[in-house]
Parts: sequence; structure tokens; C-alpha cells
Amino acid sequence: MRILRENERLNDVERWKLERHPLDVREAVLEVYSKKGVGAIDEIPGEHERLKWVGIYPQNQGGNNFMQRIKVPGGRLTPEQAKVIGRIAQDFATGPEPNPHFGNNFLDITTRQDIQMHWLQIEEIPEIWRRLEEVGMTTVQACGDSARNVVCCPVSGLDREEAFDAYPVARAITDFFVGNREYANLPRKFKMSVTGCVEDCAQAEINDIGMVPARLEDGTLGFNVRVGGGLGDGPRMASDIDVFVRPEDAVEVARGIAQLFGELGNRENRWTCRMRYLVQELGPERFREELESRVAFELEPAGEELTKRYRGDHLGVHEQKDGCYYVGLNVVVGRMRGEDLEEAGRLAEEYGRDIRLANDQNLIITGVPEERLDELLREKLLERYSPNPKPFERGVVACTGSEFCRFAIVETKIRAVEWAHEMDRRFGDGVGQDVVRMHFSGCAASCAQPQIADIGFRGETAKTEDGIVEGVDIGLGGSLGVDAAFIDWVEGARPADGVPEALERLLRRFQQERRGGERFHQWARRKPNAELRAIIRGEAG
Ligand code: SF4
Repeated sequence: MRILRENERLNDVERWKLERHPLDVREAVLEVYSKKGVGAIDEIPGEHERLKWVGIYPQNQGGNNFMQRIKVPGGRLTPEQAKVIGRIAQDFATGPEPNPHFGNNFLDITTRQDIQMHWLQIEEIPEIWRRLEEVGMTTVQACGDSARNVVCCPVSGLDREEAFDAYPVARAITDFFVGNREYANLPRKFKMSVTGCVEDCAQAEINDIGMVPARLEDGTLGFNVRVGGGLGDGPRMASDIDVFVRPEDAVEVARGIAQLFGELGNRENRWTCRMRYLVQELGPERFREELESRVAFELEPAGEELTKRYRGDHLGVHEQKDGCYYVGLNVVVGRMRGEDLEEAGRLAEEYGRDIRLANDQNLIITGVPEERLDELLREKLLERYSPNPKPFERGVVACTGSEFCRFAIVETKIRAVEWAHEMDRRFGDGVGQDVVRMHFSGCAASCAQPQIADIGFRGETAKTEDGIVEGVDIGLGGSLGVDAAFIDWVEGARPADGVPEALERLLRRFQQERRGGERFHQWARRKPNAELRAIIRGEAG
């Protein structure tokens, strides 16, 4: 599945992938690196790159310090799986010094419903994999140029309004791609989203493939397909390619798109080889034609779209369609102690059915009968991870940042927590809406999805009289759903220390000028950027 474009020269990563299949690295970890030590990895060109195919990333500390990402398809965890992952974090994710805010032995829930943990040593990986595999989990293709975790509405199968439960489809797509050597070497990462909910919980617009619920005239339910969405540098909303897919055909369409991407995608420039650039180049109509020539059936035109709104989070207590309840807990910036995830697993077992991870980095306990709700809500864990948090704490999302990430320009998680707490302190009950989404990415790669936040931050360096300091670009006015749009980056390279004051000025102005039920992103969109910039800088009247 490789057709080089005219005059195309493969980049280094592509050459390494051709020299040895990246999935072969699993065997090498088990048989060589975990026994001989981390030095053996350096002896093989491109091997650190291949490690991504088994979910292993080097940390910015270098040496024998790795991050491991665990795939959680659709964000669903059994109580047992949650307990095992929590235990792994306690046994292995031990840093040399505790983080001043989060302590030690923590794990991170990501914006793609994965779980990451840090400070792992290569010798520990076989035991970690053994424990994960015992409960049916994998790290294969959690990273690397292949099909990443398939995201789905976290309350699929439970939501009272959903068109249908799409989790089995997300699971089937996952099962097709995981370990599938033919589709494990794509030009770049490949992100899929599948949902049957009407609230855009799986963020279709910012995925390479977004399958959203739709209905044909005869009442048949399935998906409309969007392609080529993504964030990072050159963010793009996915394009509608006028295709309806029946649930039983979804794997074949995902396979066909992966084939198309593998054959026609750019393998020369790693900055422009994401699928969104291919969609941009071909246009939706030609993309559809190319897809049709690669799938086993004729494509049907799109059906009636059923998405109604963008919900954003699932915190609090909500009735399920079966009469039980789910309880969404706020995991601020997605970071929790291993022992706390283990405890959440115990609570799910004791009171409910399973655990769901949401792509706003929060956690949900499902299947709680009404008569047990009060007891669950009195559990100590819910004091730390509240179902009813304050508005800024509720909406804050942050990527890994410079604590571990080699690409980061600034520290993110502690700052994001502190800024959210500070805004909650200054604004008491908020600014008139239940949540203001602040997303903080440590660099332009957008792992925290700043482009879809009310207020987005992107790590930068900033000049001050005292020299170069950590700073942020500030963007305003992002959202998904019916009024989906990315933020405008309104201000650049603002010193991080001055951000709380800038935020307060912005939010007070929003409070003064808000019309009716207007939300922050709507207010920001109707204000000229120059005026917003002046407010941030403290230059506005
Ligand atoms: Fe690292 Fe940048 Fe992603 Fe943050 S956004 S985790 S800094 S690559």
C-alpha cells in the first residue's frame, strides 16, 4: 500500500518504517531491550520512532524514562481494567521527585480517551503489558503513524437521546486496525471518531474520519461521513463527503479511507502529511470518487444529519435510558493518582457497571441504581473528583507540557489548574454560564485542543524587561457543534505570569456586555480582535 508521488523523496521516518515494520518493535522490546537495557535501543536506527507503535514515547528527561499510552476504545473501561491500570501507575509510574502539585504515581486521561503514564523504565514494560493483556487491553498503535484510539460518545448505550449505540462500531473498527500490518504504516497518525449521539461528543469535525449519526428516508440509521479534520498547525474542520454508511459497512469504509490515505498521502514532509492536507488537495468530490474505487460496494449519498448540538461534558448525575444513573466526575486537567483510579474501579464495581473516559479528560461511573446514588455521592473519592465542580475547574483541559513532553515550550498542567482555581476564586459562582472552557497546549501541536475552547492557550516564549520567560498565545471564541469554529489567536507571546489578570479583564468585560444567554465564545466572536487584544493587554477603557 505505497505509491510514491512523482519526484517524492521519503522522509527519515518513512525510510525507517520501510527498513523494518514498526509493529516488529513489540518483539524487540520483549526479547531484547527489556533484557539488555535502554542502550540497546540506540543501536538500531529509527527504533525510538518505532517504539511509538507500541505506545511508548521517550520523555524529555531522556535516558530510561518513558511515557506509555494505553488505548481505551470508546473510553470504556471495566472496573477490573480501571483497577489494573491504577495499580500499574502505583507500582511503576514513580518519578525521582514528586510533582509539586500532583505528587507521584499519577496517570493522565487524554483528549482521545486514552490513559498515559510516565516514568516507566524499559525493563518494566513486559510486566506492564502482561497485566494489561490479562484484562484485554493493549498499547499497540496507541501512538505512531497508524490508526489511533477510536473515540466514541462516552455515554454511548446509556444516553436517553442518542440515535443509536455506536460503540460496537467503534469497537469493530478498533479490532480491524489493531495489529493489522497492512494498515499500520500510514503517512501519519490517523484519528477516527464514531458516534450515535446527537451531541457531537466524539468531536467528528476534528478527526481524520468522523462518523456522525444520520437517517435515510426509509428510517435506516447509520452515519454520515466527514473526513480531513484536525488541529495543530493548519487546523481544519472535517469535510462532508456526502456518504451514508450503514453500521455494518463502517469497518469497510474506514479501511477504504485508510487505504486511500496510505496510497495517496504525502510521505515526504512530516508537517504536511496529515490526511487533512490530502482532503484539501483532492477536495470532497474527488476524495469520494477515490474512496468509491477502493471499497467493496457503491457509496450511498448522505442521509439526514441528526446531530443537534455540542454538549462538551458529562459531569454531574444523569438518568440513563435504562433508568439507572451515570455520574460524571471532574478530573481537573485529566490527572489522577493511580490509587484513585483503582478506587474509581472499586466504586464502579460496588455501585454501578463500568467506567467511561471522556475526551474532556473526565471520568464517568455508569449504571448506578437510583437507590444507591446518595451513597455513591458520599464516597470520599468524590470530594477530590467532584460531580459538581466550579465553572472554570470544570472546563479546564491541559496537555502534558514541558514536564515530560519533548516538544513543549512551557509547563501546562499546574498552570492550568492554578489559573482555573484563581478564576473560580475571583468569580465565585462564575460568569453567568455553567462552564468556560480553557484549554492549554504547551506547543502548536494542540493535544489539549485549544482551537475548540472558549479560551485557548498555546505555549510560546515571551520577551520581558528581565529576559525571555515562558508565555502563551491567547485565542478566543472556539466551539464545536452547530456553530463550530476555531478560535482566533488574538494575542501572541504574553508572559504566563500575567495571564490571570488578562483573563479577569476579559471575563469582566464579557459579564458587562453579555446579551441574554450569550456564551463566551459567541461574545468573543462578535468583538473585533483589536478590541479583545486591548482588553487582554489592559489598554482598553
Ligand atoms: Fe507536547 Fe505540544 Fe502535545 Fe502539549 S501540545 S503534549 S507540548 S506535543
